[in-house]
Amino acid sequence: MMLPVENLRANLLVQRRDLFRQAAQTEDDLLWLETDVEPEIIERGQTETMVRLLDRLDEREKREIEAIDSALIRIETGSYGRCEDCGKDIPIARLEALPTATTCLACGKAREALKK
Ligand SMILES: [Zn+2]
Repeated sequence: MMLPVENLRANLLVQRRDLFRQAAQTEDDLLWLETDVEPEIIERGQTETMVRLLDRLDEREKREIEAIDSALIRIETGSYGRCEDCGKDIPIARLEALPTATTCLACGKAREALKK
């Protein structure tokens, strides 16, 4: 399956930067945002600035960053766009609406139903 992965990856990086920007307070933080947004940093681990910025985010925002990071890693490893539960391709329309989706719509609904 051919996915417009580059577009989705660019969107994910923008979302990630916007989340961190809400927590940026100093010039150093802003400089970090401009330079340190590539997924390589995720593999190398968290920098001091990243830890400090994460500290200022609320739980929901932290979960969003984690979901974005794991989507970026799946793009790198080539497992992006495959449903974690049934193994089928996730429809591109769903990925465009929700680039961090790890399941197809049916499996996503099944998970939601289990949570209730
Ligand atoms: Zn599925």
